[in-house]
Amino acid sequence: MPDTGRLREWIQGAMPATLALLEEMVAINSWTGNPEGVNRLGRLTAERFAPLGFGASFVPSRNPAWGNHLFLHRPGRAALRLLLVSHLDTVFPAEEEERNNFHWQPEGERIFGPGVIDIKGGTAMAWLVLQGVQVLDRALFDEVDWLVALNASEETLSGHFGEVCREQLTPHTRAALVFEGEHRQDGVRQLVVARKGRLTFRLKVSGRAAHAGGQHARGANAIRQLARLVERVEAWSDPARGLTVNVGTIRGGGSYNRVPHAAEAEGEFRCFDPAVQEQTRQALLALAGPGDLRAASDGWACRVEVELPDRSPAWPRNPGSEALYRIWSETGTALGDRLAREERGGISDGNLLCAHVPTIDGLGPGGDNDHCSERSPDGSKLPEYLDVRSFVPKALLNVLAIAQLCRGGNLPAPRGS
Ligand SMILES: [Zn+2]
Repeated sequence: MPDTGRLREWIQGAMPATLALLEEMVAINSWTGNPEGVNRLGRLTAERFAPLGFGASFVPSRNPAWGNHLFLHRPGRAALRLLLVSHLDTVFPAEEEERNNFHWQPEGERIFGPGVIDIKGGTAMAWLVLQGVQVLDRALFDEVDWLVALNASEETLSGHFGEVCREQLTPHTRAALVFEGEHRQDGVRQLVVARKGRLTFRLKVSGRAAHAGGQHARGANAIRQLARLVERVEAWSDPARGLTVNVGTIRGGGSYNRVPHAAEAEGEFRCFDPAVQEQTRQALLALAGPGDLRAASDGWACRVEVELPDRSPAWPRNPGSEALYRIWSETGTALGDRLAREERGGISDGNLLCAHVPTIDGLGPGGDNDHCSERSPDGSKLPEYLDVRSFVPKALLNVLAIAQLCRGGNLPAPRGS
């Protein structure tokens, strides 16, 4: 372990500039559905990374309603490439920020604001950490081929950014480092080594309409059929297998006096294990066909259709993520900072990369309540906030662990590569 005192001091001294950058970023509304804002933030980010030697390229999202992904590249003297991953977008429309008076707001050791940890704080962390590596070991900094990739539409879980990113992976790309916010468990810093994958589903039931009073027996009630299906799929949730099934929307019928002929529900299921994902997918598909609800008059059965519109791959525990975790954990131990592994239920860009390059996540600063903008007078609802004290120790840990990663050899290849 090199003398870390000087580095810690340097990081401490760079905090005002880092928080000033973060404040500028938070002031720009970059809700995914606001492509002008996302692109403005992209331009600001490119400007701030330029003095560190990074050239910018912008790649339009495949969906024209979203902004441009940003790729910042600093060519290295050696082939060794490191990929740092963040995103530009947030979940907060400008109207919601206005309505809830949700803006940059320091309060003691906390700073509230849209994206302070998800994930503008992570981008600011990456900016600080790159400079820290430069301060620690200028030769090493110049050797590494750095690529900082920022997704314009991460919050939609679109797979497009993952495709573009994977095209940039060379055989010498050692790792993908994702700067989503850090969670803590009993005060212990956690790094993300696995995340659930997700499949969305839509269940559509066609029944047979009939007069609710005069012809009730002729009817096949689509809502009742759908209710049975909702009960059935929700019951597949199984903590032992890390599987959660959630029906999130439901609609059907038209009026009191008709047996309803149509109903529809949408939901998603999530799990860590690709095998469990595939089993659950098959079980959902097997629901298609005649239902078990029949008209009393002639046995006419409801029809069930199943659609699976969207899939995010699972990120299971794997040797590549484990090797990265060990580097961070050993660096933490040397600094007197205990770390733990986290398997997180939410999805990140790590899900799109983990099968192709060793990946670790949660390298951003700590805080809480990401995706929340409301505040109640009694304090039972608080919006997203950054824990300012988490910044310096986390940056120090990241700088030293990244240096260790660059000086070491290749990591185990992830599955599927
Ligand atoms: Zn995020």
